Amino acid sequence: MTTFDVTKRNKVLRLAKRARYDHDEVYAILDAAMLCHVGYEIDGQPYVMPTLVARDGDTLLLHGSSASRTIRHAGAGHPICVTVTHTDGIVLARSAFNHSINYRSAMLYGRGSLVTERDEKIDALFRFTEKLLPERWDDIRPMTDQELKATGVVAVPIDSASAKVRTGFPADELEDVDLPFWGGVIPMRQVLDDPVPDSHVPADMPVPGYLLDHVARHRTVRVEE
Ligand SMILES: Cc1cc2nc3c(=O)[nH]c(=O)nc-3n(C[C@H](O)[C@H](O)[C@H](O)COP(=O)(O)OP(=O)(O)OC[C@H]3O[C@@H](n4cnc5c(N)ncnc54)[C@H](O)[C@@H]3O)c2cc1C
Repeated sequence: MTTFDVTKRNKVLRLAKRARYDHDEVYAILDAAMLCHVGYEIDGQPYVMPTLVARDGDTLLLHGSSASRTIRHAGAGHPICVTVTHTDGIVLARSAFNHSINYRSAMLYGRGSLVTERDEKIDALFRFTEKLLPERWDDIRPMTDQELKATGVVAVPIDSASAKVRTGFPADELEDVDLPFWGGVIPMRQVLDDPVPDSHVPADMPVPGYLLDHVARHRTVRVEE
């Protein structure tokens, strides 16, 4: 098992028992997320930008318009912090103080660079597309050079990370547990609904099987499973 070194930057201080530093656990949380938030600072002003995220081994991938401030800043090697969060349940206690959320979250640190090599860039974009919908890449027209040029890809070697996970029931005070209030968890999960064709889809065109399979998988199980 490989773990991220625990340093002043990534050491979970509050409720340290919920901390995870194991690569596999951190990456499972990252990979289960379609979206991340990229945090960075320019001239003393913090920005936290929501965007899609993908991964290639120990490298986190971001993409966007080549003109995007986030892409240009992250691609210039400035330090960034990327977070992802999954909410797994609403935890209802007998007191407001002990209400909580079951969650998995990860914070990843690194400095990125712009991917300029054509094949590397295409591979990164393949990873983003596959993450949205596996098998999609082979069922769409290829990218044009113009589209490739307009898209900036940033590769961020992950040099530090932490994750935090809460599971289970409320942690009520002992003297509260017999109070006449309901306590427990409302589980939450992310699901996909039926695909809706746009007006250009011919009436006799079937929905691709890989798409239906993907939707079916995410109706009944958690996204990360
Ligand atoms: C969905 C959700 C809801 C939450 N709601 C609340 C809330 O309402 N109030 C509250 O106080 N806290 C909440 N938390 C926990 C919160 O994220 C922080 O862990 C906590 O507030 C401690 O903050 P701190 O500044 O003392 O962090 P510290 O423990 O000082 O953080 C030190 C380092 O630990 C790591 N770390 C800390 N928190 C996390 C995390 N969540 N995920 C991954 N790495 C982490 C980072 O690397 C960070 O730099 C919530 C978390 C989630 C995911």
